Amino acid sequence: MSVINILSPHVADLIAAGEVVERPASVVKELVENSFDAGAKNISIEIRNGGSTYIRVTDDGCGISPEDAGIAFMRHATSKLSDEHGLECISTMGFRGEALAAISAVSRIELRTRLKGTSEGTLVKLTAGEIDEMEAVGCPEGTNIIVRDLFYNTPARRKFLKSDRSEASACQAAAIRCALAHPDVSVRFIRDGEEQFFSPGDTRIDSCIYTVLGRETAKDMLECSGEDSGLILKGYVSSPSACRGNRGGQFFFCNGRFIRSVLMQTALEQAYRNSMLSGKYPGCVLYLSIPFGSVDVNVHPAKTEVKFSEEKRVFDLVYYSVLSALETEKRNADIAPSPSTEALLGKKTGFYKSLSSEDYRKTAYSATPRKKEPGRNDTEFFAPRETYQTKLDLGSPFSSVSSAGPAPVSPEPEKPRSDRLPAEKTAETVENTVQNVDKLSIPNHKIVGELFKKYIVVELDDEVILIDKHAAHERMLFDSLKENASGPAAQILLEPVPVRLSAEDSELLTSHAELLSSLGFEIEALADCDFVIRALPADMYPSDVVPSIEEICEKLKSGKAPSPDEARDEILHTVACKAAIKAGWDTSSAELERVTAAVLSGAVLYCPHGRPVSYRIPGRDLDKRFRRIV
Ligand code: ADP
Ligand code: MG
Repeated sequence: MSVINILSPHVADLIAAGEVVERPASVVKELVENSFDAGAKNISIEIRNGGSTYIRVTDDGCGISPEDAGIAFMRHATSKLSDEHGLECISTMGFRGEALAAISAVSRIELRTRLKGTSEGTLVKLTAGEIDEMEAVGCPEGTNIIVRDLFYNTPARRKFLKSDRSEASACQAAAIRCALAHPDVSVRFIRDGEEQFFSPGDTRIDSCIYTVLGRETAKDMLECSGEDSGLILKGYVSSPSACRGNRGGQFFFCNGRFIRSVLMQTALEQAYRNSMLSGKYPGCVLYLSIPFGSVDVNVHPAKTEVKFSEEKRVFDLVYYSVLSALETEKRNADIAPSPSTEALLGKKTGFYKSLSSEDYRKTAYSATPRKKEPGRNDTEFFAPRETYQTKLDLGSPFSSVSSAGPAPVSPEPEKPRSDRLPAEKTAETVENTVQNVDKLSIPNHKIVGELFKKYIVVELDDEVILIDKHAAHERMLFDSLKENASGPAAQILLEPVPVRLSAEDSELLTSHAELLSSLGFEIEALADCDFVIRALPADMYPSDVVPSIEEICEKLKSGKAPSPDEARDEILHTVACKAAIKAGWDTSSAELERVTAAVLSGAVLYCPHGRPVSYRIPGRDLDKRFRRIV
């Protein structure tokens, strides 16, 4: 008795159908892709009951001839290649001639199509892949295909369908991806009789995003582009403050098709590392154009997974283009820097955008530590010690370090002064940084005061600007710490601080000893779990050392910082946060002025966790509130 059976073509189709057609959304995707392939300029998609009973796709593409209309549903029927010479094309575009066969095998289909330039169309009706009826009909040029009762003959698969609601959402998501993939094609999506979106097809990416993803998403997006010999990237990325709790807002396209790419996703997210709240994900609509042959889309039957032959170049292009977009946003902040500020920002002005991502990487992020210009020290720039010194009159032990580097801006009210351990700095001599403030030509403004010891209130032209003093100062410190390649200056504690840690934390601390020491921490192990801290980054309060060490251990434990670079950034976040002025503190007017200057110069937009640092209220809005104007 024979045990090996050759499957009937019908059974083979049913099996293949499972590969291509998982759920109604995959039908939507395949049909719309065929419409794109047919050169359609207008596509309408309509679904009912989550697509399980009804999916209709109408296009004004090239249409199908009467001879081909029946053949299109046969397995391996494709007009897109005819022999092995087209195989290159299969692997690049993913044509397999399988979709219509697979869909028709598990549904009832009605196809109306008229080839462009002919006078008569064709109607084909199929049930489970078999043609029931085929006749000449009158219909518009293009193709209209209706798929009814999906999986009606495969109950097992039908059972796996989720609720109509979630299948409908999946269909809509597929339609969104299709529409975004082609800003040059107008796509309309109708769900249970209600239009959900309608893109204009005017080739503009921004108008496509606006109509498909909505105004809220569109208004917070930044333009992003880059090029690297043959690889071209363009599109939009979300502003750090508009990041969301999942990756649902990330859309990557390669050569006109939606793709999933861990590589591009990682490059995108890495670029936001220091401007986004942890646990948040940036959104994007990014189009990569890459020479055919450098990408293999056939890794997955649904063609969404790709393999790039030059992964590093793709990664760098995405990473540096996105970084550049975020930098550009900084410079074009709502509160635009004045021309002289631009001059001060010098190297950053009008610069990144015109460079290829490769040049950008070389220039802006070269591995060689940035040379310090004489007379300039960014770390100290925003927190010259003298000011606090004179203002706070901290007494002799503290004053001996008065010009040694940045320092806490004002005392934390709840901490008695004796809590501060006297410190001595190893830091190099600091230039008088007030000069730098003068160099910044900050727009003419007036600091009106402070709200709740938290927000600086600034009047600038006809606007009110509220600045979160802690968030802004934290960012200033973080940026200067990060730019300081040799690590922040350390302050040696006269009275070392003892710390006792859990076994796990002790282990972590020991394994990161080198990194911590490069950042200014000098930690000595006394016993297994007992340590003394002998030195700290210059900016930190000695009284903050224990909570900081605990926080650092927590971050290293949580797996937030898998690479040494990320660990370094996380530690710098902690240092910056602890060293920054806090809400609730009394802050000197000089310090408020410095923080304000940094924000108004456009240099500071988000705190290292991605929270915004300022908020504008146009005077007009106030006038409206008070009904001075309507
Ligand atoms: P593939 O797209 O891989 O060629 P399909 O099974 O999706 O395979 O489609 C089979 C063929 O049917 C296509 O190659 C094309 O010739 C024709 N076809 C399908 N949909 C359309 C359409 N909307 N407009 C014109 N031709 C179409
Ligand atoms: Mg197809």
